[in-house]
Amino acid sequence: MEFSVSRVHRFPLIGGALTLIVYGAMAALLYQGLEPTDSAPCLIWLPSGVGLAAVILWGWSMSVPVFAASAIFMSLMTGASPPQILWVSLFNALGPLVGGGLVRLSQSRRLPVCRMADAIRLLGLGIGVSALISAFGGLADLALRGADYPLVSQYVDWLMADMAGAAACAPLMLCAMAGVRNRVSDMIGAGFAEAILVCLLTVGLAVQIFFGFDDPEGRYLLWPTVLMLPLLWASTRLPLLLAHLLGTLVMMLAIIASAKGTGALHIALPGMQGDSTALFILVQSSLLLIIGAQVTERRDAEETTRQTNIWLEHKVAERSRALAESEARFRQLADTAPIPLAVSRFSDGSVLYLNEKSRELFRIDDSPFSLRVDDFYASRQAREHVLALLDEFGCLQDYEMLLQDSQGRQFWALISCTLIRRDGEKQIIIGVSDISNRKVMEESLQMANQALQEHLVEVESRHEGLRDKAMRDPLTGLFNRRFLDEILPERVATALVGGRQLVIVMIDVDHFKSINDTWGHRGGDDVLSMLGSYLAERFRSTDLVCRYGGEEFVVVMPDTSLEMAMSRAHALCDGIRSARFFANGHAISITLSIGIAALPLHSVEATTLVQRADEALYQAKRAGRDRVVMAPYGMDEDMAFPGRV
Ligand code: GH3
Ligand code: MG
Ligand code: MG
Repeated sequence: MEFSVSRVHRFPLIGGALTLIVYGAMAALLYQGLEPTDSAPCLIWLPSGVGLAAVILWGWSMSVPVFAASAIFMSLMTGASPPQILWVSLFNALGPLVGGGLVRLSQSRRLPVCRMADAIRLLGLGIGVSALISAFGGLADLALRGADYPLVSQYVDWLMADMAGAAACAPLMLCAMAGVRNRVSDMIGAGFAEAILVCLLTVGLAVQIFFGFDDPEGRYLLWPTVLMLPLLWASTRLPLLLAHLLGTLVMMLAIIASAKGTGALHIALPGMQGDSTALFILVQSSLLLIIGAQVTERRDAEETTRQTNIWLEHKVAERSRALAESEARFRQLADTAPIPLAVSRFSDGSVLYLNEKSRELFRIDDSPFSLRVDDFYASRQAREHVLALLDEFGCLQDYEMLLQDSQGRQFWALISCTLIRRDGEKQIIIGVSDISNRKVMEESLQMANQALQEHLVEVESRHEGLRDKAMRDPLTGLFNRRFLDEILPERVATALVGGRQLVIVMIDVDHFKSINDTWGHRGGDDVLSMLGSYLAERFRSTDLVCRYGGEEFVVVMPDTSLEMAMSRAHALCDGIRSARFFANGHAISITLSIGIAALPLHSVEATTLVQRADEALYQAKRAGRDRVVMAPYGMDEDMAFPGRV
């Protein structure tokens, strides 16, 4: 129930006018209806509640219409003197100003009739302080009238009148003016009939109590307390305004009865005529105010809880709907995805979902048995490895592994997994890509590559053989002249750069023609072949033994001194002379003529060096064959060394 004061605050002029009229009219009615007592114009001063409510509702400026209404009323109806009017009206306005101001300062934005704490503040700060101040008007009145009346009694009478009036009037006015909703639907539990019944019962009981007795001795003085029961019922079961209205009605009956000098509250003792009525009204109003505020507070809390529940239910429903929609969208997406997808439980590996593509890939029918992902891994270790990786990193991308379908066909696949938390447990979303075709292609590619490699090696070796053939003499297996022509300039240059020695040895078989003539060309070939092997064995591996042409051979000896070469050549001549060669199976012996030239002694140029060795060989021939001749250097010195010493 909303009791905000902000709406009425906006209309202070209307508030002022209303205050003026209601205050004045109420004062006039009371003054006319009730007999003035010795000390005050009437027993219960209801206008004090109007003033207090006005200040609470519209602010401190309402004390002005209160002052005006009081002054007008007094001057028109009481015949009081101007100073009396001034002082009494001043206190009448000052009380609500201070009391209402304190309530306004301490209250929340809600009216002080809706919460227990606010209601108690209204009673204490508002009604109490307001009455305490206003009651000073009685003292001023007494002083100005010059009446002989005890000061304290005067003050207490006015205090009681103001307090009872404020307690009776202010809550009702606050409820009525603040636009409190009073719909029939606000009646909790009680039906309309019940509400009317209880209202009638209360009023009937009040009429009986206040008008049915003539009780000057005060025997029925406590009977009005019975009225508290239906009033409390009203405060808990009816809208607040209605409860206060009923309470005010009962109070009005009490006031009227008091004015008429009848009923349970009337006591014919001197000085006690109105006190019991005022007291009853004060107690009843205060109780009604506090109980009503407490009930309203509870109702408000219940309403807030109800609204919160409705909001929460709405939100939950909204969330559930959004979740269901998102789930359905995901499901549709997964169902129609072009790649195989599956969802499994992390803890036990049971398969929770398979899309159409994965059913195709793993050849799974709509089997009623629950599936486990373990069945689709080719090895258990592989699955455990995947789980360990997932546990550590939370996801896995394009992991290559061997899987198998429900019928045991194994295939290679790339799997990508993501660990998620759903329905309070860990689950794995798995995407599978069948790469068995790619694997087959890879394997065949690998095989083709290997075959190609082998072929390449073969080609290379053939090429090597050809190259070897090209530089070798087929009959003797020695290097041929072309190779010598290619390599010699390079060797000569290297020796020159390194400052090293190099010797060229040129060898020719003596009278070879006669061997051919005697044993035939084939017999000659046999001898040449054997001689080739003989030469290859006699020289170092670093020496280059070549068949220069026909029955002529050239040996290039690097890092060899002239003396050493000469000595080696002599040894060769000697060795050949005693060696046996076979031509067509017949043992024959041969001799050699050898010419020698050395770098840089005879030349620093390859061709010239060979030429000088050839010249030396020619000299050996001329000198009688079977000998070693070093190429001449210097003057026409004959440098022939006989083969035999
Ligand atoms: P000398 O050198 O002592 O003066 O006498 P020679 O008989 O060795 O002289 P010549 O150089 O005139 O003869 C070489 C012969 O070698 C001529 C040729 O028929 C023969 N000949 C050349 N190449 C081959 C070959 O590959 N096989 C055979 N069987 N004979 C060859
Ligand atoms: Mg010869
Ligand atoms: Mg020759």
